[in-house]
Amino acid sequence: MTSTPIALKNLLFVGAAHLAAIFAIVYMATIQFSWWTVGFALVWGVFSGISITGGYHRLFSHNSYTAAWPLRAFYLAFGAASVQNSALEWAADHRLHHAHTDDDLDPYNIQRGFWWAHIGWVVAKSDRKGVRSLVRDLEKDPLVRFQDRHYVALALLFGAGIPAAIGTAWGDPIGAMLVAGFLRLVIQWHATFSVNSFAHLIGRQPYSKRGSARDSLWVALMTFGEGYHNFHHRFQIDYRNGIRWYHFDPTKWWVWTAARVGLAKGLRRVPRERIEAARREAAGLIAATDATAPTGSTA
Ligand SMILES: [Zn+2]
Ligand SMILES: [Zn+2]
Repeated sequence: MTSTPIALKNLLFVGAAHLAAIFAIVYMATIQFSWWTVGFALVWGVFSGISITGGYHRLFSHNSYTAAWPLRAFYLAFGAASVQNSALEWAADHRLHHAHTDDDLDPYNIQRGFWWAHIGWVVAKSDRKGVRSLVRDLEKDPLVRFQDRHYVALALLFGAGIPAAIGTAWGDPIGAMLVAGFLRLVIQWHATFSVNSFAHLIGRQPYSKRGSARDSLWVALMTFGEGYHNFHHRFQIDYRNGIRWYHFDPTKWWVWTAARVGLAKGLRRVPRERIEAARREAAGLIAATDATAPTGSTA
């Protein structure tokens, strides 16, 4: 087994953030507890979460719709608060993941095991070169370039500085920074990482048996709808991940609402017939395997 070089900076930050998240719970239990802080952390968590799912993922990585500049700025600010790299880096990694799912070039290749796909790749030194060539379209956006250039400052500002400043309004700046900053961050990390780990391991494959991506309701519940990952890998340009009305996909509802108020347009949907054809094809692969059995039907 070859050892993987460690990105020390990432490892230290990921470790320190987890300690700060644990301390946030201790702080609330023993030093100061405020419902204001808890409510504020929830709001910050929704803003940050939707900026990864609706912004970094469905907008910047997949161009599944276009967004007006105020919405893009919102995504870039709270995307930075999510401390998952700049939108440019995130999209480059993600496009590589889709182009090379399950092979050596897949940054979060599930074939290297659960922990690698979940968090190992974050703390390992990347030797990926030239992936910026995958995001030339995004580099044309001055807001995306600005966020990429000032990513660390923006992450500190929206991830910790502004939460602390807002917390002074109810006399709990430390609690606001710990809970809305670090506890929220660590929970959000593991939710996002679950798409790369659990949604490539556990769940159904109604749309494609090729590749490891799976539809997982549990992951959808944790990630504002990103768990319908088998559909997403089959039809990545669709702004929806859960296509049925009863699928839990708040990101889809958010983008749809943004379009209603003029902040988004050009929402791309794969035609129903193509989705049904994919579903039949995936089911057909099972039938083809079954057909080799003596009782196989030709119907
Ligand atoms: Zn995937
Ligand atoms: Zn994707």
